[in-house]
Amino acid sequence: MNYTKLIFLFLLGAFIFISSCSSDDDSCTETTWYEDADGDGLGNPDVSLTACDQPEDYVEDNTDTDDSGSSTSGGSTPLSAFDEFNPDAVTVSYDGDEITIESNGVPNHTSPYWEETNPLYIEPVVAVALTPGRIGGDRSFVLTVSSTPELATTSSATGLGAIGISVTGVPIFNDQEGNNRPIEELIIETFDYAGAHNGPSGYHYHIESSDVPENTTLSFDDEKLIGIMSDGFLIYGRREMDGSYPTDLDESGGHFGVTQHSDGEEFYHYHIINEYYLGTVIALFAVDLQGNPNAIM
Ligand SMILES: [Zn+2]
Ligand SMILES: [Zn+2]
Repeated sequence: MNYTKLIFLFLLGAFIFISSCSSDDDSCTETTWYEDADGDGLGNPDVSLTACDQPEDYVEDNTDTDDSGSSTSGGSTPLSAFDEFNPDAVTVSYDGDEITIESNGVPNHTSPYWEETNPLYIEPVVAVALTPGRIGGDRSFVLTVSSTPELATTSSATGLGAIGISVTGVPIFNDQEGNNRPIEELIIETFDYAGAHNGPSGYHYHIESSDVPENTTLSFDDEKLIGIMSDGFLIYGRREMDGSYPTDLDESGGHFGVTQHSDGEEFYHYHIINEYYLGTVIALFAVDLQGNPNAIM
């Protein structure tokens, strides 16, 4: 057999093979698939194709209003979490898909940072030295977030001042003191059992609370809600609701999962990262935010 004949027979075979395949395809059901460029499981109604099998990066859904790939949905924030906030200090209001958390920053637990005449004043049990100033003053923290906050493509560093609002109403600070000075031994000495001290802008939390009898409400090595960060994601204690330590946290201590508030629904939330700072304390949030930060006014 010469070479040309061989090629001809090969092409004929290939043709018969392809024809028989396409006649098989008549039995398949074609479906319309929509492009899911940002990988959130929702498809773009404007970009579609029809095929029997699901093409890569295409989904059956066609309800994505923003398929730009700039962000990913973090799921819905479970609203029952806001029942945990101290009602004497915090007001939560809802407007469409926005949640506004407003606090006067005044906690509902004991501290040596209260004026001695206050019923919640106690002698220091953890603090070795106190920073100047006492709890009180005319303070206000207002944070408005989406009820379905999104994960940004790039994370954001936190700054000085409030980066979140805790369940007691006290603002959450990062691991920096004024002038971007990281928390050091001298500063740790000033924290009360709640992990807070007083600063020029008032009483604020930096670290996880201490396991002392005086501490009856705050999270210590457990699954309790800590508060809400400025990007709208909730932050919980070091453990999951089943008592285990989460093993799939990202660099910010966040992951998708269920909590005691979410009724089985997975959503993105942070945990306090189970790592000691200077060997003795655990920072509440010493990492970047994974969502888009909102101003705490
Ligand atoms: Zn401070
Ligand atoms: Zn979790």
